[in-house]
Amino acid sequence: MTSSARPFLNRRLAEFGTTIFAEMSALATSTGSINLGQGFPDTDGPEEIREAAVRALRDGRGNQYPPGPGIPELRTAIAAHQERRYGLSYDPDTEVLVTAGATEAIAATLLALLEPGDEVIAFEPYYDSYAACIAMAGGTRVPVTLRPHEGSFRLDLDELRDAVTEKTRLLLINTPHNPTGTVLTREELTEIARLAVERDLLVVTDEVYEHLVFDAAEHLPAATFPGMRERTVTIGSAGKTFSFTGWKVGWVTAPPALVSAVRSAKQFLTYVSSGPFQYAVAEALALPDAYFDAFRADMLAKRDVLAAGLTEAGFEVFRPQGTYFITTDIRPLGESDGFAFCRALPERAGVVAIPNAVFYDHREAGAPFVRFAFCKQTEVLQEAAKRLKAAR
Ligand SMILES: *Cc1c(COP(=O)(O)O)cnc(C)c1O
Repeated sequence: MTSSARPFLNRRLAEFGTTIFAEMSALATSTGSINLGQGFPDTDGPEEIREAAVRALRDGRGNQYPPGPGIPELRTAIAAHQERRYGLSYDPDTEVLVTAGATEAIAATLLALLEPGDEVIAFEPYYDSYAACIAMAGGTRVPVTLRPHEGSFRLDLDELRDAVTEKTRLLLINTPHNPTGTVLTREELTEIARLAVERDLLVVTDEVYEHLVFDAAEHLPAATFPGMRERTVTIGSAGKTFSFTGWKVGWVTAPPALVSAVRSAKQFLTYVSSGPFQYAVAEALALPDAYFDAFRADMLAKRDVLAAGLTEAGFEVFRPQGTYFITTDIRPLGESDGFAFCRALPERAGVVAIPNAVFYDHREAGAPFVRFAFCKQTEVLQEAAKRLKAAR
């Protein structure tokens, strides 16, 4: 669609009219395709956590406006989770804020911290809400492109350094990274931290896939690096970790002055949300390590099924170290335009995928890459692989 089709949309948002997900999900329905486009699981999370939400609802907990920062039980559980997993200590009363998913956490953080004209450095390809939220806040996005290097997408640290100017206010990072599956290494995060301290930048880190890390990779929270805790806003979410993406329970952990700023913006976005679900997520965060281990093992097995299927179907596969997405290169199939490829794929193969170019400012840098989600039942992934192979 062109912007003339949306005469009322303001200039800040003109380029964000409709997302590719709407177009591709419509194509999935009209062609009866398997939808590996959008990243939501096709099975719900733990039964006991679902029951915890039902209990809260029946007992009348959270049916009226919960407290602005989130219910104390959940803030305490979030702080305990950060302490237990990473040794990061946050005060549940002043350093934790519950939000309507990570989406609101991102929006509120950028709206609170940016002055118009401030520059935000983000790794391209990036999650689609980053660009829109930077724009809504009147900021300017400065993409630093992750490039294929020995089987994964990596950051060029010199390029990152060169992207910082007098106007740079914050670094917006995401690890594990959607859509590439890259997990930032200790060396990369050490350099990012060094740069942030040296140039006195704020860091906003989207860690919603913190529990989906595979092989030898390790999730290292940005806030654990020297000089970072005091300048870092960490964003988490129950949606991805507990397979309840519809509940929209997310959170921010940061020092009091940053949380207070984010809360100022958040109170005028949703004020509060997800009352009964907050009680259920408090219980979910306290699940034993066995839950998190089994969840990771299950997703790892799914990754391997889809990666093998895509390889057999002729794609070049960038084996993700984290998240539930696989980025592929379609050039070995004799294709080079991910948009055209994804628009034709439902007819041709009965499968829906997303062209990574939508996550880039430099569209040409993302042109040959296509993303598949593997948070689906194994049979569904096997059937998708079979169809892709047959259509080759
Ligand atoms: C899904 C996703 C989000 C949004 O999380 P919600 O809690 O559903 O709002 C944010 N960031 C990334 C990278 C995601 O993939």
